[in-house]
Amino acid sequence: MKVTDLIHKNEKTAFSFEILPPIKGTGIEKLYKEIEALSQFDPQYINITTHRSEYVYTDLGNGIFQRSRLRRRPGTVAVAAAIQNKYNITTVPHLLCSGFSREETEYVLLDLQFLGITDLLVLRGDKAKHENKFTPEENGYSHATELQEQINQFNNGIFVDGSEMKVTSTPFSYGVACYPEKHEESPNIEQDIYWLKKKVEAGAEYAVTQLFYDNKKYFEFIEKVKAAGINIPIIPGIKPLKRASQLNMVPKTFKVDLPEALTKAILDCKNDDQVEQVGIEWCANQCRELMAHGVPSIHFYSIGAVDSIQQVAKQIY
Ligand code: FAD
Repeated sequence: MKVTDLIHKNEKTAFSFEILPPIKGTGIEKLYKEIEALSQFDPQYINITTHRSEYVYTDLGNGIFQRSRLRRRPGTVAVAAAIQNKYNITTVPHLLCSGFSREETEYVLLDLQFLGITDLLVLRGDKAKHENKFTPEENGYSHATELQEQINQFNNGIFVDGSEMKVTSTPFSYGVACYPEKHEESPNIEQDIYWLKKKVEAGAEYAVTQLFYDNKKYFEFIEKVKAAGINIPIIPGIKPLKRASQLNMVPKTFKVDLPEALTKAILDCKNDDQVEQVGIEWCANQCRELMAHGVPSIHFYSIGAVDSIQQVAKQIY
């Protein structure tokens, strides 16, 4: 079933979460434990992130450094398939422009087609760590809209070299990302919404937001998005805070503001155990308000936060 059908299947607000493929060499068991900790809340689907390769430099000991490419978290497709088989739950692998050529993307699409995984989240992806601005891969793409075009062509039975598929199967359906506090590269929120609308016109069936801690920002965004004629579900993405250090790290990494009341409550904490409790309460209250406004689904960013999400979900589901 497609994500858009899954989130409207029940009266109650759907629950979904995002996991990261394990760091190379660490195995999948920890991931299974995390999924099992959250499975009691009836997740409708699970997203699997994708991480591009990075350049690493190895000191050869003679003053020379060898440059090589490393993917710290490979395995998105395999993890998606393993979870879908083991738990019989829809998985949504992320597909990126970043670090992938169009031919590599095509091979990923073929693998997913064979595995019967037909839901995707289509993204540009983060820039490489050594870059100060996003650079597309050679023969790759600069924006999610271009990747959407390739998927649409694939759905129509056309490969990137223009040749035709002999056999077609269930088409891919997909969502995209959006930013209630605007994407960091966008000059203003209106431009960002302009491009979101292009992503919808190109076939995005829903959008998932960047995490946010101030519901007002989400509600204002929804108003603007609707005024721009965008009518797809905008699924709020949420993550409970756990550590005092996140007061600086979260705004820097995700380009979002933290509300004054939340900041103050965290600064009043004596240790990170107290911060964790503040984070859980804040997140649960955010969810209650979002549910009261009738959001069809809430998506949880789970990295390093599974225990807190469990506590939040116990309160709201
Ligand atoms: P785009 O839609 O391409 O937008 C990027 C910027 O360009 C925006 O400022 C937009 O306004 C503008 N723009 C959009 N289209 C065009 C166009 N055609 N021409 C000109 N300008 C345009 N990163 C990862 O590396 N791996 C992940 O798994 C991952 N998962 C994520 C999941 C969610 C829900 C979210 C919100 C983000 C995720 N990210 C992930 C981060 C994301 O890749 C970055 O935020 C990235 O910088 C932008 O991705 P995008 O798909 O929004 O890009």
